[in-house]
Amino acid sequence: MSVVIIGGGISGLALAHGLRSRGTGVTLLESDPRLGGNIQTRSRDGFITEAGPNSFVDREPTLRALAASLGIEDRIRTADPAAKRRYIYTRGKLRAVPLSPPALLKSDVLPLGAKLRMMGELFTRRAPEGEESLADFGRRHVGRTATAVLVDAMQTGIYAGDVEALSVGAIFPKVVELERKHRSLVLGMARTQAEARKALPPGAGAPKPTGLVASFDGGLRVLVDALARALGPAARTGARVLGLRREGNGWRLAVEERGQQAELAAEKVVLAVPAYVAAGLLRPLDEALAERVEGIAYAPVAVVHLGFAPGSLPPPDGFGFLVPSVERRRLLGAIHASSTFPWRAEGGRILYTCMVGGAKRPDLVELDDAALVTLAREELRDLAGVTAEPVFTEVIPWKRGIPQYNVGHLARVEAIAEGVARLPGLYLTGNAYKGVGLTDCIRNSQALSDTLAR
Ligand code: FAD
Repeated sequence: MSVVIIGGGISGLALAHGLRSRGTGVTLLESDPRLGGNIQTRSRDGFITEAGPNSFVDREPTLRALAASLGIEDRIRTADPAAKRRYIYTRGKLRAVPLSPPALLKSDVLPLGAKLRMMGELFTRRAPEGEESLADFGRRHVGRTATAVLVDAMQTGIYAGDVEALSVGAIFPKVVELERKHRSLVLGMARTQAEARKALPPGAGAPKPTGLVASFDGGLRVLVDALARALGPAARTGARVLGLRREGNGWRLAVEERGQQAELAAEKVVLAVPAYVAAGLLRPLDEALAERVEGIAYAPVAVVHLGFAPGSLPPPDGFGFLVPSVERRRLLGAIHASSTFPWRAEGGRILYTCMVGGAKRPDLVELDDAALVTLAREELRDLAGVTAEPVFTEVIPWKRGIPQYNVGHLARVEAIAEGVARLPGLYLTGNAYKGVGLTDCIRNSQALSDTLAR
């Protein structure tokens, strides 16, 4: 069987590796001169920066197992234990996010009335029919203020989205499942934890997730490089797919590779490209399907790295902070990159990774680099008291950054799956459909490699 994968981000790479491990012949075509897609680790002036994803949460075996199969599990680096602490900017200052329900009672992250309302979570009524927004779900469970502060901050850290628009079932399916089974999330979590304590520990030799934020010793690029090495010439860079058409029982692709146009035959084709690229390739095959895929919106995000000389400011505490949109600030949040992963900044340098824009302020991502650096500096000064002059700056504007699973996404993805099923031998994967995290992308591509290899 010959499978052609279009797109060499983590979704396409993990799929190609999964298929090769099962003995299936694959060709991966990536339009950029390098593999990795959103994953772009850079090293300059004593700082290791991540243009896109910063880390993954080592919560399930998926990524660790992939790393083990590539012989790089020992290169995983978990965050400094202090990175468990996270902050939210609310009511005029950074306040620590409580890590347990009892800690919430003592914390000042919410005013007293909002904390009392949160205790009412135990009496939440069951969900209404149909897809619900994250904001409506949050208000039913924890009330208006906790939704505007805690729930909004939580989604901002992953989606940079609009809490009123995001579909809770699409972005947090496990939380909705918990509600379906137990009605109250607090009750559900307590029961699930009790069951987990009774369960047997994983067998010897199974990868053991730490539950911590993690990366690799040289940044996320280490994973991409290992996948590239494993794939060898099967992964072709500088190869842009321009179109595809049905031919007999298979497919024929038009490819532009290093200035030359060529055609390539495949029994099966997987589109592991962003939804807006997939829509263009699907349009000549099924207009309605292309429309549905194109309807998946992306939030623009600008990443602004600010690096500081050793001793020019106190190292910031914890993983970083998030700013709920109710604060009407221009920063979505900042990662304390050098506190989380000290090896990301040499000799005591300090690295902040600031996020700007998102679904609510797309206009900010249009600013030029100098204006974005000024904005990030002003916001860090006002929110975190950082007044030192940076010795290092880097700006990465993602015009179409993070897919938004807005209300209607679940129905849309179902309709897309039905449309794709009418095109035998064609498949979709990638972050636009069933999870935007690196771990989600890998898990979904591995499931697809199981299907294809069968
Ligand atoms: P992509 O990485 O977009 O890969 C698609 C590939 O297809 C690209 O390489 C592209 O060049 C190629 N392509 C496009 N058109 C063609 C064509 N015609 N022919 C051939 N190739 C083509 N996730 C986390 O888990 N943790 C984080 O901390 C985190 N932070 C993030 C921060 C930012 C700023 C962004 C943007 C994302 C972040 N994410 C994070 C999400 C995560 O990075 C992505 O969901 C994931 O990397 C997407 O991988 P993918 O392979 O699905 O898509």
